[in-house]
Amino acid sequence: KTGLEKTRHTFTERIEQLITGHGKIDEELLDDLEAILLSADVGVKTTGKLMQNIKAAIKKNEIQTADQLKPFLQDQINSILTGGETDGGKDYPAPFIIMVVGVNGVGKTTTIGKLGHYYRQQGRKVLLAAADTFRAAAIDQLEIWAGRTGAELIKHSEGSDPAAVAFDAVQAAKARKADVLIVDTAGRLHTKSNLMDELKKIRRVIAREIPDAPQETLLVLDATTGQNAVNQARTFGDVVQVSGVVLTKLDGTAKGGVVIAVKEELGVPVRWIGIGEGMDDLRPFDAAEFAGALFA
Ligand code: GDP
Repeated sequence: KTGLEKTRHTFTERIEQLITGHGKIDEELLDDLEAILLSADVGVKTTGKLMQNIKAAIKKNEIQTADQLKPFLQDQINSILTGGETDGGKDYPAPFIIMVVGVNGVGKTTTIGKLGHYYRQQGRKVLLAAADTFRAAAIDQLEIWAGRTGAELIKHSEGSDPAAVAFDAVQAAKARKADVLIVDTAGRLHTKSNLMDELKKIRRVIAREIPDAPQETLLVLDATTGQNAVNQARTFGDVVQVSGVVLTKLDGTAKGGVVIAVKEELGVPVRWIGIGEGMDDLRPFDAAEFAGALFA
């Protein structure tokens, strides 16, 4: 299971049909290909770049027949996506601190639970910090995930200072010799300046205790929102230093091309993909595997 089943339906199958319907490459074929890329939410800018490269390769006779388009495109997409894949944090000294940011509803809490599970499966000691103190439900949900995965939870009461939760969590991580600390944060984008201050303060508190931490700041984006996810990433990028993206709900969308747009247009690597609601439905992102699955 790659989570790309729906995307493949609109992308791979349509490209296949296009190519088998055309022996030679003409304007119409290229226009149709462009439309397919756009409908998979590869994005206007990235689609433009890919089409430009294809046209250049045709001019240089590197592509002569329609069936050569597929491997060429796969290779192009592979090279856009390659770089910045996660090593699961194994090269960092403990505690490896991951701050998780994103708008409410994108799957942030679920992602934190799945990440906790991932590291627990590796036999690591995991601490979750409920620093989204704005929503009581977020704290409760995180507690459920902690119980489910065997992670420990650091929480304060609803409405308390998120930075204080982060401070306590870092102290606890040190005292309990945790390997991984995952910090949840609020996702109220409509109060952007408050949120910015809050996220910055959390970062500052963590960095004061452990220089270079948080070693990872993951932005969680909902793939089903397509280009909106790209816009959200831009907004968050202005607010906080994002080191990697988690793209959730890829299983529920035909817009899997958004992975390509995120990497190409924002220059931020996709580190993880969410491909379902279950504990095991989070995968480290693998560029070659993803590009391969798109064209399989
Ligand atoms: P939050 O508000 O960002 O913390 O969002 P939640 O973690 O509560 O998730 C919102 C909904 O999306 C829940 O119903 C999750 O089960 C669902 N969800 C999260 N990640 C995925 C995913 O990768 N695939 C699918 N299909 N659903 C997901």
